Amino acid sequence: MNESRILTGRHALVTGGSRGIGLSIAQRLLAMGARVTLAGRSAKSLEEAVRQLVNLGEVAFVSGDISVRADVDVIFLKAKEGFGPVDILVNNAGQALSERFDKVDEAAWQQMIAVNLTGTFHCMQAGLPDMLERQWGRIVNVASTAGLVGYAYVSAYCAAKHGVIGLTRSVAMETATKGVTVNAVCPGYTETDIVQAAVANISRKTGMTADQARGKLAERNPQGRLIQPDDVAQAVAWLCSPGASAVNGQSIPVDGGEVMAG
Ligand code: NAP
Repeated sequence: MNESRILTGRHALVTGGSRGIGLSIAQRLLAMGARVTLAGRSAKSLEEAVRQLVNLGEVAFVSGDISVRADVDVIFLKAKEGFGPVDILVNNAGQALSERFDKVDEAAWQQMIAVNLTGTFHCMQAGLPDMLERQWGRIVNVASTAGLVGYAYVSAYCAAKHGVIGLTRSVAMETATKGVTVNAVCPGYTETDIVQAAVANISRKTGMTADQARGKLAERNPQGRLIQPDDVAQAVAWLCSPGASAVNGQSIPVDGGEVMAG
């Protein structure tokens, strides 16, 4: 087999695959030979993503909201009808809301937990049985450096992402002898719509220009830059590869050294 196509025969489901980090992950997994199902809420964006990816391999989409268990069940059912049981689950879909803690209302709190944490829980529960039955699986949760350290003004997001890391560690212990690894990647500020929104928010609240706000976010990274979606995708792709079979329960920062530097 061509060494670069080491995921040939595997079916990967990537949530939030329509844009940003998820789209890059889908690109990498397709290039490694996997069949890929993209999931997200907007069918239109998913359709557009499939159009961009179709030259790389077998790719399809299913729309649904990961915070709703019934939607997740349908996503997995349709994905399985399309490309067979899911071997690789990348829980990438997420949202970030920014607000000072005393201004976080109940709805914003619930939304952050529902999408980032409960959505990941739903997909892991829906995806694991087939992996356990086949004694092979890879689950990669896209958490955040906000799952490892605290950041001001994103307390609900931070709490949810810390939860994703706890969930990752715990399930990794349950699946350790069953051929399934469960890991997380923790990106620092990554150049996607989420960072665009953060830049707009900082500009609105501080009067900084967009370039200044972007510079502030890049400054947190010791490499002095924003992470690129493909930086994250490469780490995810490696965790899905056969060579990473001994890596389990880890939360790997993809942040240019930010978390290490403190
Ligand atoms: P993005 O460009 O905003 O993309 C988010 C993706 O998630 C979209 O495909 C979106 O599609 C999907 N999505 C959102 N809510 C969903 C829901 N309830 N159900 C199903 N799909 C949903 O974001 P990104 O920056 O690529 O972020 C991807 C992941 O990386 C997130 O988990 C985020 O927390 C994490 N992360 C991002 C950064 C960063 O700086 N960008 C840093 C650390 C971690 P629809 O809107 O159509 O549903």
